[in-house]
Amino acid sequence: MRALVIRATGGLDQLQQSDVPDPPGSGSRSLGPRQVRVAPRAAALNHLDLFVVRGLPHEYRFPHIMGADGAGVVDAVGSDVRSVRPGDRVMINPGIADYTCEYCRAGEQSLCRGYGILGEHFPGTMAQYVVVPEQNVAIIPTSATPLTWAEAAAFSLVTLTAWRMVVTRARVVAGETVLIWGIGGGVGLAALRIAKLKGARVIVTSSSDAKLHEAQNLGADLTLNHKTQKISQEVRALTNKRGADVVIDDVGEATWDESLRSLGRSGRLVTCGSTTGPHVSLDLRRVFWHQWSILGSTMGNDAEYREIVRLLGAGELRPIVDRVFPFTEARAAFERLERGEQLGKIAIEISS
Ligand SMILES: [Zn+2]
Repeated sequence: MRALVIRATGGLDQLQQSDVPDPPGSGSRSLGPRQVRVAPRAAALNHLDLFVVRGLPHEYRFPHIMGADGAGVVDAVGSDVRSVRPGDRVMINPGIADYTCEYCRAGEQSLCRGYGILGEHFPGTMAQYVVVPEQNVAIIPTSATPLTWAEAAAFSLVTLTAWRMVVTRARVVAGETVLIWGIGGGVGLAALRIAKLKGARVIVTSSSDAKLHEAQNLGADLTLNHKTQKISQEVRALTNKRGADVVIDDVGEATWDESLRSLGRSGRLVTCGSTTGPHVSLDLRRVFWHQWSILGSTMGNDAEYREIVRLLGAGELRPIVDRVFPFTEARAAFERLERGEQLGKIAIEISS
């Protein structure tokens, strides 16, 4: 089958379109009883894909198939699969759990001891076929305005991540002030939408005034340019010196100090990434005196995924697609993400 692969880690010149062996589901190799084989129609990019190309500290099996997010048509199912059948249009939840450990038994799949992500630990979605557990596909909900394949592909990873951050971890409630760094990215935009659904007042930052303008159209109450403005001072000024109740930070080293300076008493800082570096410092006196909560978050569990799919069907959530690239121009899609030019998700057509 055709796939977008890397055969070594490094720069984006490692990306190549290549023929690789078909996964199970055709010929003599059958699917596991609860496996589903999907023929992706579109895939969507995440920062994770850039990290995978540059090299992550786990063992790769080359050629490694790229892509965490995807949506497509069910092509074959294992003998015990009941929730979908061939021909169904599905979105893929890229977080794969083992369903045997104590965390899985407690319903917390993203804490699974064997947890992995498509395109990182498993062959990804940028291929003619991808095989996933039955639990990882959801039928694309029918809504008033049907989702495009690119929108369906763009939905899962960032919406699930943002939902767990805003709702499960930070427990944002109506009237609270939420600060979100870097509104161009998919997690930031999904967090904005979800925080607004919960009735919060949302402040977003970007280094691009054009993106801030667009964020206002998408519901942001206040916008700050982190290139030209001192974020913590502005947040204090905008909150009557109280500070933000919640800060959503997936940037890491570059924003950490300003995130804490922006945080009010009893504030919650939620981190799901460290794009600019993982090492930060912390004055414990400020943590206990202000009674802060520093919360980590990764992906989400199956119940959270079902809830966001339900809200997608109800029209409450909708992914924002920046641009769609044909499969033959996949590298240009990665370059756009690397340059940070996007507002929303960058998608790649896999087949039509
Ligand atoms: Zn598990």
